[in-house]
Amino acid sequence: MGIGSDVIEGLGLGDPVLRLGVTGLSRAGKTVFITSLVANLLERGRMHALRAAADGRLKAVWLQPQPDDTIPRFDYERHLAALTGPQPRWPEGTRHVSQLRLSLRLEPSGLLSGLRGPRNLHLDIVDYPGEWLLDLRLMERDFAQWSTEVLERLPNRPGAQAFLAAIGAEDSGAPFAEPRAQGLADLYTAHLIAAREAGWADCTPGRFLIPGELEGSPALTFAPLPPHLLDGKLGREFRRRFESYKSRVVRPFFRDHFSRIDRQVVLVDVLGAIHQGPQAVEDTRRAMADILTAFRPGRAGWLAQILGTRRVERILFAATKADHLHHVQHPRLTAILTAMLREARDRADFQGARTEAMAIAALRATTEEMIAHQGEDLPAVRGRLLDGRQAAFHAGDLPADPGQLLHPARQGATAWLDDDYAIMNFAPAPGTARPGDGPPHVRLDRAAEFLIGDRL
Ligand code: GDP
Repeated sequence: MGIGSDVIEGLGLGDPVLRLGVTGLSRAGKTVFITSLVANLLERGRMHALRAAADGRLKAVWLQPQPDDTIPRFDYERHLAALTGPQPRWPEGTRHVSQLRLSLRLEPSGLLSGLRGPRNLHLDIVDYPGEWLLDLRLMERDFAQWSTEVLERLPNRPGAQAFLAAIGAEDSGAPFAEPRAQGLADLYTAHLIAAREAGWADCTPGRFLIPGELEGSPALTFAPLPPHLLDGKLGREFRRRFESYKSRVVRPFFRDHFSRIDRQVVLVDVLGAIHQGPQAVEDTRRAMADILTAFRPGRAGWLAQILGTRRVERILFAATKADHLHHVQHPRLTAILTAMLREARDRADFQGARTEAMAIAALRATTEEMIAHQGEDLPAVRGRLLDGRQAAFHAGDLPADPGQLLHPARQGATAWLDDDYAIMNFAPAPGTARPGDGPPHVRLDRAAEFLIGDRL
């Protein structure tokens, strides 16, 4: 029995592949972004700013089997069912690398349109935790340097006291014992989790926060140590594990996944950071600079070797969850992210890919309205809270000048002077699906145009 031509075309062997990386720290919105992007590419009624969709050149989009047999498939159907089911809820976030392949059929345009037939493009969307990118800075450090750096900043960070007390009680002459090693690693991990929740981004090693299938393995059972413990039995074993973490965990990730990416979107929960306060904003900016460093490796470094001549061509930094703000405030959110990106670029001395900053909501969970407050009309948003109640909400006025936030953040301020910025956890809105339309969003189509539009 023969295979129909459709099937052969569907397999699309030999068609060009564009790999789009989606990253961001935990809870930045990666899972929601990919789910909504795919749904909105399959049903393109809300994708006006994606030019190929608007002018009809994008004829068809369909899901393909995941081409890499050893990488988990992004569980699109389950996440979409969570977001758009009768009781919509947020899906579970990213815990490891996953991937999904979409195929796009494009009609040629312009002078040659009569001569050429349609062409296919495969879009491989690769989802990975931003925490893993931040591990890049570990690669240039040895265990002693990393320990010194981490221990210096630890006293000011949440949840560190128990860990500091535990290493204070360690005896440099004691034999190595696995339960103690685990105890230290657990306390250090507990601190990392607390620091992450309080908005700190530079929490390494990143796999301690999102261990995936490596949970409990020796490569993830170490912790930073002060100089007097480095040469004892514990110190020597932790140094070995640290090196193993670099060579067996960090390096393979960059070699197998990161090195193959063509376009990248970095999702940043700017509103969440502003809500946490100046330290979280400053820390987010530093994390952005670190992420940029990964995309412009030095010529001689190990990463440059892995990447060869391959380069990411476009990087979009997207401030997510913009549906927490009335649209009149979106330009200010964009301006803040743009200023953070500019500072991050300066700091990373970045001259690589084309970069852009944008405020988006992958899934719009709110509607807009004005609310009266102390004789004033405030532009607000309304949505369903996680407990089912409806609420209208004004997050606080973002400043027109981003410097009003970024300057005190850089100066080490611990709280905002004038304002408080609130945040609310809205649930996805029910009943928003319309035939031919994907889920409602804010500027997801513009994000797609920047990321892949030139290849359509
Ligand atoms: P991940 O850890 O980066 O995969 O993050 P998720 O995609 O799981 O998103 C984390 C949480 O952020 C979700 O559970 C939602 O509460 C919220 N969120 C993500 N995207 C949006 C959005 O577009 N609008 C709103 N209102 N909330 C969002």
